Amino acid sequence: MMFRSVLILIWIAVVLPVSAAEPEALDVLRRTVDKCPLFDTHEHLSPITDLQGRDKLDFRLLFEPYVVDTMRSAGMPMALYEQAIQPGLEAKERFRLFAPYWEASRNTAAARLAEIAARDLYGVPRIDVDSIQLLSRRMNKAYKQGDAIEKALKQAGIERVVLDMGSKPPPAGGRFLHAERFEEFVHVHDYGHMQRMASAQGVKLGDLDDYLNALDKAFAGGLARRMVAVKSALGYHRPLDYRPASKVAAAQVFAMLKKHEDKDFPLKAVRPLQDFMMFHLLGLSQKHKLPVQIHTGLLTGSGKPVARSNPALLTGLFDRFPGVDFCLLHGSYPFGGQLAVVVKNHANAYLDLSWLLGLSPSYAARYLDEWLDLVPGNKILAFGGDAIHVEWTYAQAGMMRELVFQVLSGRMRRGLLDLEQAQRLAKGLLRDNARAFFRVDGLLPLHRRPVPKLNAIKPAK
Ligand SMILES: [Zn+2]
Repeated sequence: MMFRSVLILIWIAVVLPVSAAEPEALDVLRRTVDKCPLFDTHEHLSPITDLQGRDKLDFRLLFEPYVVDTMRSAGMPMALYEQAIQPGLEAKERFRLFAPYWEASRNTAAARLAEIAARDLYGVPRIDVDSIQLLSRRMNKAYKQGDAIEKALKQAGIERVVLDMGSKPPPAGGRFLHAERFEEFVHVHDYGHMQRMASAQGVKLGDLDDYLNALDKAFAGGLARRMVAVKSALGYHRPLDYRPASKVAAAQVFAMLKKHEDKDFPLKAVRPLQDFMMFHLLGLSQKHKLPVQIHTGLLTGSGKPVARSNPALLTGLFDRFPGVDFCLLHGSYPFGGQLAVVVKNHANAYLDLSWLLGLSPSYAARYLDEWLDLVPGNKILAFGGDAIHVEWTYAQAGMMRELVFQVLSGRMRRGLLDLEQAQRLAKGLLRDNARAFFRVDGLLPLHRRPVPKLNAIKPAK
């Protein structure tokens, strides 16, 4: 045993040259990380006008939806939750219903984000029965007196935000970019659903071509709204292994659904149609050079089997649609190792850490370090809140800066990075990789840049 430990120490000394980074260099890195504007790859922020229109805002904004999800896991019954969100309750009364489940959940990352936001944005260091009135009053005032969302984004240094809000165009002003979902065209189990999807596009449904036409029209709407990405979270409803299906097979399923109009069919029966629609959607993305964001890993809400959203199920799509860039969201928690392999092996697959700090900052720190061993630094998009309310986004922004600093400075201390590399990586992770991935500011992902003509390269003499 002793001999083994000595061997390990020798191995560390040889393979990992420990060159304690200069404290000044670490300070420079710290400043680079703190100053870097953030590119936020994924949010669902409720519009400020909707929130200002709510009767009275209170601490609940800090709990929706992930802390609630955690408290449900801690044991909060649905019936009690429904009582707790009744309008008209005083903040204190409302909080008492949450209190035992909040206390039980306080160790989690989700609850920590709520407390960081309460402390930094509203000056309330701890969420409990004594502080809840003050916190709620301050939150209500912040929203009623101004644009609390804009203010928090600015305070967090967030320059751009990709919003996933269905087909609603993002607020004007340039800070917000639009990602759109078309997955309801894919997620088909019955004929009525297809009729509704088609009629929303002004298409009368008769055959599969009509349905494809409706998807084309919806997609054209997204292009008109200047979407920068297509988003899919279908892992919530089915496994991510989309397989090639012929149009004939898809049309047969279509005919079956039409014939049994009132019946809801299981995935097994409708799969060729779903897969065919997904391929059609990805074909559109490829044609219009639009990247695709895919939810991978943990599915929020109880009872969903996580195995169906393993990123390794997607590799067939990466090969079949080489013109599409895929962004695998949420660090695929808990499939970090498989995610690294998938992203390493496919030039058109990227890795994204949105929401991850609300799940497990420990996993994020551990895996970011590991990913940097295997995955080229330009393929990691570090920041995204995946939040409905900006308080969560704000809290994650500070945490992500700290995490990037800790991981990169750790690698400097271990002699794996010099300062210049670490600074470039930091800016890439926090901002520049996402700018290239979403093709903003005239940038392109590295593997989409034009290949220089061979005769333009001068042979060495
Ligand atoms: Zn999301």
